[in-house]
Amino acid sequence: MELEEHTYTVEHRKGSLNHVPDALSRIYKEDEKEITTLSLMSNSEDTWYLGTYEKVSKDPKNYPNWNIRSGQMYRFRLDTEDKNLADDDERKWKLVVPREQRTMVLRECHDEPTAAHLGREKTYDRLAERYFWPKMYTDVADYVRKCKTCQQIKVE
Ligand SMILES: [Zn+2]
Repeated sequence: MELEEHTYTVEHRKGSLNHVPDALSRIYKEDEKEITTLSLMSNSEDTWYLGTYEKVSKDPKNYPNWNIRSGQMYRFRLDTEDKNLADDDERKWKLVVPREQRTMVLRECHDEPTAAHLGREKTYDRLAERYFWPKMYTDVADYVRKCKTCQQIKVE
């Protein structure tokens, strides 16, 4: 519903381009940037991600813990590790990961040589330092449990 309304607004403005006075052309360019961003994000088929992205970009004041920068969505988090950071520390903003990219990010935080197939908790801590998505902990637990390399180590 909200997605449709917003799409309509954007299209309406775009459609009225020919009638926009010069004084408003700068505003139109801002809109154009937004359209480009939205079409990039629409490559994702994650309806939760798209819906949230839409809500935050439409009404940022109502979502103070969410932020969109350069087409990427961030969520403000206060995890245990973050308590020592200053309130305005950038590291408190976690990159929100759409469904399609979660495996890649999990691999980065578990399989990379520096990650060294650490257990569930440590893998989650690494992930939570930088990333966010709903039920992330469950996904980490699943991923680690199913990791072939970890299974082989346990068998040996
Ligand atoms: Zn592993």
